[in-house]
Amino acid sequence: MIKLEKNYWKKFPIWKDVSRWDWEDWKWQIKNRIRSISQLEEILGIDLSSAKKVEKVFRTGTTPYYLSLVKDLSDLSNPILKQILPSCEEIDPQIQSEGSFDPFKEEIMSPVKGLTHRYPDRVLFRVTTFCSVYCRHCMRKRIFLEEERAKKYEDYIKMINYIRENPAVKEVLISGGDPLTLPNRKLEFILEHLSKIEHVEIIRIGTRELVVNPYRFFDDGLLELLNRYDKLWIVTHFNHPDEVTDIVKKAVRNILSTGTPVLNQAVLLKDINDSPNTIENLMRSLLHVKIKPYYLFYCDPTKGVLHFRTDIKKGVEILEHLRGNLSGIGIPTYAVDLPGGLGKIPLTPEYVLEETDEYILLKSPYGKTVKINRHNSDIINNHTKKQEDLCL
Ligand SMILES: *Cc1c(COP(=O)(O)O)cnc(C)c1O
Repeated sequence: MIKLEKNYWKKFPIWKDVSRWDWEDWKWQIKNRIRSISQLEEILGIDLSSAKKVEKVFRTGTTPYYLSLVKDLSDLSNPILKQILPSCEEIDPQIQSEGSFDPFKEEIMSPVKGLTHRYPDRVLFRVTTFCSVYCRHCMRKRIFLEEERAKKYEDYIKMINYIRENPAVKEVLISGGDPLTLPNRKLEFILEHLSKIEHVEIIRIGTRELVVNPYRFFDDGLLELLNRYDKLWIVTHFNHPDEVTDIVKKAVRNILSTGTPVLNQAVLLKDINDSPNTIENLMRSLLHVKIKPYYLFYCDPTKGVLHFRTDIKKGVEILEHLRGNLSGIGIPTYAVDLPGGLGKIPLTPEYVLEETDEYILLKSPYGKTVKINRHNSDIINNHTKKQEDLCL
């Protein structure tokens, strides 16, 4: 966990006069977000003119808080900066020749606009196209091309009606854009209606505000809503240990105090977190602040994001490192969302090396092998004597 110094933001000339009161206000963070490359150039003191044509296609945005987590502003390989700084690769026709703006057919598998029904028991419920930070690796990068706006109440009502009429739907995933950028009254409207539907058992909010604007969770109005609606879970999106700060820890405490669990979905990103050590540190940091790692995703084949992809087996290698070296509660499921809306599947390291009708050969987390009888799990090997010793 990163411990931020007192008044740490004052070391940035543009925020030197900002009071603690303002800086720690989530609305101030959104209102004062950085929205252009020229603003970034000013703050970082570097020439980014080559990236200027990118913002004409994919918009730019970061909260001051998230930018302040960058340790060395001159180091463009910084893992935080890489997630927010537009790069020419995003619009390079050669690099982005494959992929799709909607690889999972979210807009097609959609009975009502804004709602995707892919699995029988779960629906995806998109409430806004707005985010306070526009992650360069966004799997829904098509929303960067649309206007920034929350849906209208009448659109929410249509989506809610669909869920009410479909008793197979047990869970609603509220996503966006970022749902927690909505004002509390709009959130309340959505949560109130969804909560009243008896067959909806879980309401999952997907948000990155905990990472990019943790002050959101110091808002009493929001905490009151989290407290009131009992079906809620929060799933957030930390990708690097440098994102897990002492302020995040306090924010998570606030969320947990409302009875709402907090899980994390990370994405494997080339040159940002694609190493066993970085992911191990990320998972340790998450456990430290009491966030349960849920998924580690292979980077989706979204147009504009393809340069962040790693070899698909990289994640398996990382999981293999984690198992045996990290508490089991810190190990996420490594998953790939299959293109075409076929669904998410786990990819796991291979622990079964050989299998017959009689036995199964297994590998330990540290590479040792053991052959066991598949019907009763008795150990079969050449060292029968030693086995007998063990039995005594
Ligand atoms: C990811 C996703 C879900 C949720 O999947 P889980 O494995 O339950 O996290 C549901 N619907 C859609 C359309 C999704 O993309």
